[in-house]
Amino acid sequence: MNKLFYIETYGCKLNQLDTERVRNALHAAGYTETDDPEVAELIVVNSCAVTGNAEKESRYRLRRLQRANPDARKYFIGCFTEIQNLPDTVFLRGEEKFQIQELMGHLPSYPEIQEKHVRPLVHIQNGCDLNCTYCIVPYFRGSSRSIARDEVLDQVKAVIHAGRKEAVLTGIHLGTWGKDLTPKQHFLDLLRFLDKHTVNQLKIRISSLDSNEIPDDLIEYLQNSEIVQPHFHIPLQSGSVGILKRMKRRYSPNQFLSVVNKIHGAIPEACLGADVIVGFPGETDEEFKECFSFISKTPLDYLHVFPFSPRTGTPAATMPDQVPEPLKRERVKQLKALSDDRRKQFAQRFIGKHRTGILIYPDLVLTDNYISVHLNTSTDISPGSEMRVKPTHIASQGSVHGILV
Ligand code: SF4
Repeated sequence: MNKLFYIETYGCKLNQLDTERVRNALHAAGYTETDDPEVAELIVVNSCAVTGNAEKESRYRLRRLQRANPDARKYFIGCFTEIQNLPDTVFLRGEEKFQIQELMGHLPSYPEIQEKHVRPLVHIQNGCDLNCTYCIVPYFRGSSRSIARDEVLDQVKAVIHAGRKEAVLTGIHLGTWGKDLTPKQHFLDLLRFLDKHTVNQLKIRISSLDSNEIPDDLIEYLQNSEIVQPHFHIPLQSGSVGILKRMKRRYSPNQFLSVVNKIHGAIPEACLGADVIVGFPGETDEEFKECFSFISKTPLDYLHVFPFSPRTGTPAATMPDQVPEPLKRERVKQLKALSDDRRKQFAQRFIGKHRTGILIYPDLVLTDNYISVHLNTSTDISPGSEMRVKPTHIASQGSVHGILV
């Protein structure tokens, strides 16, 4: 009988992709995956340290798994700051995680792993050159490194070969793609290159782009693009001028507004989303109100709202006037309510209209513009297929329902 392994993943899309590589390495080394940690001989936790809470959760799970199965060999991999001594546990930080290859066997290249994802991730970049005061990521991932466009194309071709219809371009800081290459290139060059070589065989979704990295020529391209999905996630983090400065973000609320308004004007059917951190150190009631009223003026269709959690080793962790947790929770609640309203308003615009989308589960289609449409009956078509769907109504709790057309 094969040896069994169990794996858990926390954090970003890049971590999910890394997990996929580790999973394949373990398969290649003769292991079989189990969803029961108690019977596994090998347990892997791919951790995230983007916030203090994220790291705490990864560690909490590792300790629980240690109690559940003290005899298993354990790997704690990914992004973490503090080493804890746990018996039978190997800690592999950041890129060290791929030493698991030496320990466990062959590590497959990215193209080999695409078949498993319904919407495969295509890795185009790693690391970040900036120093946002709340963020630990550059510490783990190092400076920005781009993947050469031919290698990106190899990944994209593997996605097409696997019969998938959509790929998600992923990395830590996508807008910096190409800056470290010789000759220097821009993210737009990569999109044009992929456009030319995929000739409509695949749709591309951009996981995230900073507002100050979306120039007018990129918006013009996106407006006319046949391959890029009309869905743009543009981190905001705060709508307060003072807080953005204390976060060392490189744009002002007005610059952000100008960019999202341009995209909304050029591509009205596009879904626009943003990350927001509330309770940043020193955030006053006035600054939170400034943030809330700023977001109310934007055309954003959803928010990912996070309470600030101090990350040891970052400047923000030791800033004065840390905001009490109950106040953070209250502010999160207010922005989430705004986000829920916006999501519903956005979906409402497409009720009764046909959209293309990808079948994610037998009863769920994700439209090109990021509406999750629940089907009334399951289909036996394989997940990953491209579908036409018509949203028909929104249930009281906000879920969107519809039919295949
Ligand atoms: S841009 Fe800022 S938040 Fe994003 S990875 Fe770089 S340092 Fe972190």
